[in-house]
This record gives sequence, structure tokens and C-alpha cells, in this order.
Amino acid sequence: MAEAPHCSRAQCRAPAIWSVNWRNPRIHTEDRVKVWLACDDHREYLHDYLASRGFPVSVAPYDPRTDEAVDAPA
Ligand SMILES: [Zn+2]
Repeated sequence: MAEAPHCSRAQCRAPAIWSVNWRNPRIHTEDRVKVWLACDDHREYLHDYLASRGFPVSVAPYDPRTDEAVDAPA
């Protein structure tokens, strides 16, 4: 069985609670949304990381049925 999804923040093994949905307007089209996962501790960190780059970002409760995560930076 697969390991339970965990926070996308490097070194963090906490279970994912939030999905951080974002895209880079310079390379992604409107319908292309990337998903990072976050624990309670890193939700704000990951959101701010993206917001500080001017990327559209929204945070929602993580739903493993609909959210497919990609790797966050180290
Ligand atoms: Zn975390």
C-alpha cells in the first residue's frame, strides 16, 4: 500500500492536510493548476512562497480523490 501523502515541504514528513493550488502565469495556462500538499505548520510557508512570486495561489483542504500533488522545491 502506498505511503500516506505528506507535506510537500522538504524534510517534512507530516501528513498532508491542505492542498496549495497554484500556477505560474508565465508558463501555465488558466486550466493548468499545480498542487503542493501542506501540513498545518507549512501551509502558510508554501502559500507565501508562491504569493511572493506573484503566482495565483489558493489553499483548500486536501482531498486525495481530486488533488494530484507535484514536488515542491527543496
Ligand atoms: Zn510540513
